[in-house]
Amino acid sequence: MKQTKILLPETEIPKHWYNVVADLKNPPAPPMGPDGMPMDPSAMSAIFADNIIEQEVSAQRWIEIPEPVREIYQQWRPTPMFRAHRLEEALGTPCKIYYKYEGVSAAGSHKLNSAIPQAYYNKVAGINRLTTETGAGQWGSSLSLAGQMFGIDVRVYMVKVSYNQKPFRRSMMQTWGGEVLASPTNLTETGRRILAADPDNQGSLGIAISEAVEEAASRADTKYSLGSVLNHVLLHQTVIGLEAKKQFAMVGDYPDMIFAPCGGGSNFGGVAFPFYADEAAGGKKVRLVAVEPSSCPSLTKGHYAYDFGDTAGHTPMTLQYTLGHDFMPPGIHAGGLRYHGASALVSQMYHEKLIEAVSVPQIATFEAGVQFARAEGIIPAPESNHAIRACIDEALRCKESGEAKTLFFNLSGHGHFDMVSYDKYFTHQLEDYDYPQSEIDAALERLPKVKA
Ligand SMILES: *Cc1c(COP(=O)(O)O)cnc(C)c1O
Repeated sequence: MKQTKILLPETEIPKHWYNVVADLKNPPAPPMGPDGMPMDPSAMSAIFADNIIEQEVSAQRWIEIPEPVREIYQQWRPTPMFRAHRLEEALGTPCKIYYKYEGVSAAGSHKLNSAIPQAYYNKVAGINRLTTETGAGQWGSSLSLAGQMFGIDVRVYMVKVSYNQKPFRRSMMQTWGGEVLASPTNLTETGRRILAADPDNQGSLGIAISEAVEEAASRADTKYSLGSVLNHVLLHQTVIGLEAKKQFAMVGDYPDMIFAPCGGGSNFGGVAFPFYADEAAGGKKVRLVAVEPSSCPSLTKGHYAYDFGDTAGHTPMTLQYTLGHDFMPPGIHAGGLRYHGASALVSQMYHEKLIEAVSVPQIATFEAGVQFARAEGIIPAPESNHAIRACIDEALRCKESGEAKTLFFNLSGHGHFDMVSYDKYFTHQLEDYDYPQSEIDAALERLPKVKA
């Protein structure tokens, strides 16, 4: 019998997260405050607990995972890795294809890997209430569940278009005790301003972040929690790559290329950075490929500049690849990838050519997801389909050239709550959309005037 499933015992759940900052030659560019000057980390304490800020700015290579967090991780970690024999055969490729499946978490994606520690650290800091944003609902459901586990109330600002399109994600959040609001709301200054100008505004991640940050900053009993982009979120997600390295060792293999969908960059960083650690230590170089939608091409077409993380400009400015903080995303179905910017760490590594990025059009990602589901069984999240597309494309290129590479992608979540999107694919209602260069050029004008 061919081995398809590569499982680690529970004793192999990582005891430390890996912090890539320790292995970068250049220190990360400092976040900037509203005055355009480097910001003191303590200025972030209006919205984040101190123990989280400490992690956000840490340069320590290994950071211990608290025991209560590992205990909860145990419910779904270590996650399985699979050798995709059936997909390889369907493609007729000489490549070996592996994938790691993060959809086995209760919330259905990798996002719970960071929601649990974020809830834990807030609880330890005495915080009993969190606000956050969600697009497609993956992060909101993860934080609702994590909040429930640690006795923290969670209020979720959900992008209005998703609130209406994805009612079951909303019910999931409510099941786990989360309070869900359609953003923009009338509860914040930002929401009221946007609704006054445009009563039918369908919302965006940038707007929802502004609302959640504004509320947290205005209430002493409330902090804010973000599901991607920030250094500490990427740190938490490194459990994915750390486990994967052990799983490759179990089968005596090692990847040549790694693919992950990239929105804010957390699952990409989570799977890729631990392999970069090998390269930094003088080991083998793996090509690390972030895959984004051609409708929201932050890395591949954005400006490398200081910008806000949200629409209203409530967050610090970070040096990142951005389409402009007022970016209004086209209505594509990979809701988790519709973010104007990118993680500062992923951006820096892309700028320094330590990692690669590609963009793929929407319809082709669903084609790849369906081909994958028919070969391997699992129905992927639309976000994950981006990585699958890029991986299949490489496997097909290798079929032409006769190269036999080892390819690996992160299957970041399942698509069980995204079947409306699959329906639209099957009934030919999906469109491809290239974000226009003129919009990208125009955004440059509106970027905050801060020198990198
Ligand atoms: C949120 C999400 C992503 C993209 O987010 P990152 O921050 O880039 O990881 C990818 N896949 C799934 C299933 C998601 O929920």
